[in-house]
Amino acid sequence: MGEYNLQVSIDQDSGFCFGVVYAIDMAEEILEEQGYLYCLGDIVHNDEEVERLKAKGLRIIDHEELKGLHNEKVLIRAHGEAPDTYRTALENNIMLIDASCPVVLKLQHRIKTSHDAKENILIFGKHGHAEVIGLQGQTNGDALVFQDIAELDNAELPQQITLYSQTTKSTDKFYAIKNELINRGYEVKANDTICRQVSNRDKDLHNFVVNFNKIVFVSGKKSSNGKVLFEVCKKYNPNTYFISSASELTADMFMPGDTIGIAGATSTPMWLMLDVKAALEVF
Ligand code: SF4
Repeated sequence: MGEYNLQVSIDQDSGFCFGVVYAIDMAEEILEEQGYLYCLGDIVHNDEEVERLKAKGLRIIDHEELKGLHNEKVLIRAHGEAPDTYRTALENNIMLIDASCPVVLKLQHRIKTSHDAKENILIFGKHGHAEVIGLQGQTNGDALVFQDIAELDNAELPQQITLYSQTTKSTDKFYAIKNELINRGYEVKANDTICRQVSNRDKDLHNFVVNFNKIVFVSGKKSSNGKVLFEVCKKYNPNTYFISSASELTADMFMPGDTIGIAGATSTPMWLMLDVKAALEVF
């Protein structure tokens, strides 16, 4: 225990969601057998975990590199992929190890069914995000993706709209968008497709963060789920810090005797939160 005598607890519900656990387990199993494995995109939005797996032989590639690859195994991560990727794999004799999260696969399927039924699809999601590219791919690119209602201000929308959401978006924002579209006079068929592993986390985190003087929220900077959950922490405990690794902690963030809660995104590994706890305890 350091001079500051910080009282540190980790939120036991923070950390990987089942989709990510499933993808990492699958990767580790093949890495054990084969010594290396290609993975299309970062397996999780967490650099530390990616580095750990790279050291075991994980080779991260992008879509361009996939086109140049033949006769290999390639892992598809939890975010899922657009149909184009499956076509490339077939052409190049690539065996896909499909770790797409079942929740994402189900959403892809629903969007495809809506598209086949000629519905006008709007997807509330982050531009360029892998999951969103996979979702839009189900519609041959016909679905309109937006991440902010203001993007729709000048868009010419049809009278009937089918609304979907990326799985990691905030439920509050989703329903606010639905209501705004109805107020603007559209007929909206809204499909709340936000993953409950994420939306339930809001309530649990709220109950956790109010118990501490300060919160250290650990997440990769690229994680959209991390951004959402960080905002939840900050809302209920304004003394919340966002860090990606223990090295970002500095003594001036804390006061002697502070009680500190550590929480993380669904892409934050438990070992990283344990590292942060150990670092805090030596202040
Ligand atoms: S957040 Fe939900 S949808 Fe996304 S990978 Fe995890 S379990 Fe699957």
